[in-house]
Amino acid sequence: MPETIPCTYCGAAALPFLRAQDDNRRSTTETFTYYRCDACRLIFLHPLPADLSLYYVGDYHAQPASEAERAFHARLEAIKLAYVQRYAQGKTLLEIGPSYGAFLRLAKQAGFAPEAIELDADCVAALNAEGIPTLQSAAPLEALRTFGSYDVIGMWHVVEHLPQVWEVLAEAAAHLKPNGILIIAAPNPQALTFRLFKQRWGYLDAPRHIHLLPIALLEGLARQNGLTLIQRTTSSAESVWHNYGAWRSSLINLVGKGRAQAALGLPQSADQPRSRSSLLKARVFRLALRALILAAAPMERTGLRGSAYTLIFRKQA
Ligand SMILES: [Zn+2]
Repeated sequence: MPETIPCTYCGAAALPFLRAQDDNRRSTTETFTYYRCDACRLIFLHPLPADLSLYYVGDYHAQPASEAERAFHARLEAIKLAYVQRYAQGKTLLEIGPSYGAFLRLAKQAGFAPEAIELDADCVAALNAEGIPTLQSAAPLEALRTFGSYDVIGMWHVVEHLPQVWEVLAEAAAHLKPNGILIIAAPNPQALTFRLFKQRWGYLDAPRHIHLLPIALLEGLARQNGLTLIQRTTSSAESVWHNYGAWRSSLINLVGKGRAQAALGLPQSADQPRSRSSLLKARVFRLALRALILAAAPMERTGLRGSAYTLIFRKQA
């Protein structure tokens, strides 16, 4: 009989669900075990590594490498801003985990008064230099307690990283003004791509993602904290991009990064020039990937099966 452990959220029995390695970043050769709770369906990493910061390697907070990439990111941020503008009833805004802050810059241009809590020192320095007050902290719960109240609190792809996620969400709810909104985007454990790729799913991102939170669980938790769900999607324009990202990263994980690079003729280092045939292979790969995603899209668009969700909650006035 596999050994059960108590669910870190509800305390019911959780069974080993899958074992995964850091396929995305290869920060370690360790294997990690995820458990799934029978009652609330939370998927969580156990045991937690003593120092999670060891696994945030490479270009985790990299600025976009090219103008094309910057323009692409700007489009994604514009989609996020459109959501915020549609639902926000005021202009004060706090983002937890903004990375280099592309969204905050856009929000500021749109007339919001943004602030932030961020772990990465370089990102914090850059944001403060641009007049966006940002507190550096590896402990968002304690950091949040020192902040005021906001019309908007945004957590895009952050909750899955937080050991104290329940406490942070309760604290975020407490720091919303009446009618304020909390936006949470995260990998979706109900995703079609997760069902297909399992431990190779690019959005599992072991061991950096320690929680995969079902939508229903977050809805219940929010309700306990005086918040009402007003928007729930896994198929917004931003989510569609996440579907693409999940298919791409999962396929590469499945084949193996080295073999995928060799098959596509990708250079082993950044300064190695790319041959014409490698560029052609990469283009064929992208086209095949688009065709695959187009074929899967009708399934991903129904039943909340997209790779990432965006949830918006409003605080009762
Ligand atoms: Zn549970």
